[in-house]
Amino acid sequence: MATMRAMVLERPRKPLVAQERPVPAPGPSGLLVEIAACGVCRTDLHVVDGELPDPKLPIVPGHEIVGRVAALGAGVAGFAIGERVGVPWLGRTCGVCRYCREGRENLCDAPLFTGYTRDGGYATHALADAGFCFPLPERGDDAEIAPLMCAGLIGWRSYRMAGEGTALGLYGFGAAAHILAQVAAWQGRRVYAFTRTGDLEAQKLARSLGAVWAGGSDEMPPEPLDAAIIFAPVGALVPLALKAVRKGGRVVCGGIHMSDIPGFPYRLLWEEREIASVANLTRADAREFLAFAPQAGVKTTVRRYPLDQANTALADLREGRLQGAAVLIP
Ligand SMILES: [Zn+2]
Ligand SMILES: [Zn+2]
Repeated sequence: MATMRAMVLERPRKPLVAQERPVPAPGPSGLLVEIAACGVCRTDLHVVDGELPDPKLPIVPGHEIVGRVAALGAGVAGFAIGERVGVPWLGRTCGVCRYCREGRENLCDAPLFTGYTRDGGYATHALADAGFCFPLPERGDDAEIAPLMCAGLIGWRSYRMAGEGTALGLYGFGAAAHILAQVAAWQGRRVYAFTRTGDLEAQKLARSLGAVWAGGSDEMPPEPLDAAIIFAPVGALVPLALKAVRKGGRVVCGGIHMSDIPGFPYRLLWEEREIASVANLTRADAREFLAFAPQAGVKTTVRRYPLDQANTALADLREGRLQGAAVLIP
């Protein structure tokens, strides 16, 4: 029997363990994907660190998968063996709940999420629902495309929610922000990048990707922001970002989890400032972003790790030792 390798989380707050298992066969609507690269997203850290409720356990994390179709379910049309595909966080939706019917499938009542409630991409192979996979063009390097599959897609949804303003703050300059900074600069917006205090490497990267200003998150930008997106999982950034946006400005929380938001005076919210959160993605977001990213010339900065070094990659992300995105190569 053919076998595959996977890095498996058996219990939260424990290191992933390497396992060999039989290669699974796809169901009628499924694809078996042979993985070429899988990005490491901060959400994986929240899963591994036990910060998200009810993961499937044991679970193979990872939802920024780039690979090739290795087998097709009997009912799958529109994909071919060997075709390059991307598998994102949104693994499946129910199609019948009010959110699915209203075109807001990101809020589906009965979804499956790759690498959280179904096995994901820290592996040599993964099963995915064909209807939630995206054909990818042949151009570009697998590892450099992988971060687009979540940091790019959910970053894009956050960016759209931030509105059309030209002065945009990005709090936390990791995988998502380093993609969005390029998109925003390409569209002629002024990007203000906020990093951990003293993280000069991240500030340098931000400037090199088009930010007009980069500084610590405790600093005020030189002009009031039209909107800010918070990617760092730090609740204390919410009042700081509110302070930095103009009247009527919006603060978008782009992550799935953050530490508690501390109390703050109402005057920071006053004058029609808004706080919003972004949850998951729709397939429409993905199609839109995957068409847009090449036009904007988005280039990702990645650090490659062999699959069996997944714990090192997660630790580097947790400790802020990374510029750009970590990617696992099986
Ligand atoms: Zn639904
Ligand atoms: Zn993600």
